[in-house]
Amino acid sequence: DLLVVGSANADLVIGVERRPAAGETVLGSDLAVHPGGKGANQAVAAARLGARTALLARIGDDAYGRLLLDSQRAAGVDTVGVLVGGAPTGIALITVDPSGDNSIVVSPGANGRLTPEDVRAAAGLFHASRVVSAQLEIPLETVVEVVRSLAPGSRFVLNPSPPRPLPAEVLAACDPLIVNEHEAKVILGGVAVGDAEVGGAAFGDRPEDWARVLLAKGPKSVVVTLGSQGALVASAEGVERVAAVKVEAVDTTGAGDSFTAALAWKLGAGSSLPEAAAYAARVGAVAVTRRGAQESFPTAAEVEAR
Ligand code: ADP
Repeated sequence: DLLVVGSANADLVIGVERRPAAGETVLGSDLAVHPGGKGANQAVAAARLGARTALLARIGDDAYGRLLLDSQRAAGVDTVGVLVGGAPTGIALITVDPSGDNSIVVSPGANGRLTPEDVRAAAGLFHASRVVSAQLEIPLETVVEVVRSLAPGSRFVLNPSPPRPLPAEVLAACDPLIVNEHEAKVILGGVAVGDAEVGGAAFGDRPEDWARVLLAKGPKSVVVTLGSQGALVASAEGVERVAAVKVEAVDTTGAGDSFTAALAWKLGAGSSLPEAAAYAARVGAVAVTRRGAQESFPTAAEVEAR
């Protein structure tokens, strides 16, 4: 079974002609409300593929929390680990202009109240899980406790998003650490957060090199996702390319979440890392052909059909 530990947010989206400047008010479209947050997204993505999946997360005792619970249950996720209360449900306030550029304000809310004690209280879920997957939209101390709570023989998968430098204890547990180009830069620590330049002189321009340097920081394995270019898998056995699946992309939202969920599920089912990454690339490729995050995640049959 797969346990996802992470965030659950309501994404509140308004289309605007122009994103407002300071002090300005603009009129926008009707409000669209979507279930989101990286933890909730990964759990739905895995369950839709057929994985037995549980989510450990915290939501508020409010209407957005109920919306998130409903979307998890509809996908077949075990929600016994979804804790309620302590703060309002996490919210992402998103304005999108006609060119697709957006401005986003996130209120972590209840996600910030998912504590190490909550992790310890969920020991039963950890013991039932072959693979545990996490991201960084919850407190880092909680992620540290996740690593300490892994059952013997179970595997830890981390997508460090939003990225920040990681303690050695967390890095050492990752098998794999899954990063996109931006996350790779921040974890490598050689380039300022938000710098548009990839890699940086210290590490060279080749993703193969970043994968090797990341691996040297302690994880058991590393996956670098490269959008339409596919991915790279690095472990003690070396660095391997995972071919991209050619598709007409319409919306890349959720690609990384569905990739990570698919990879975690396949690892739990006994696939090798390169096999799991190749399958995950097929899942990510389907997700980018559809709009939205959770709405875009395919079933296993839809992946096979392509
Ligand atoms: P993130 O969403 O975290 O930035 P990526 O954009 O690297 O992650 O996407 C994750 C994975 O989804 C990629 O490794 C790839 O397998 C797949 N993917 C993403 N964009 C495309 C695309 N345009 N065409 C095909 N596959 C894609």
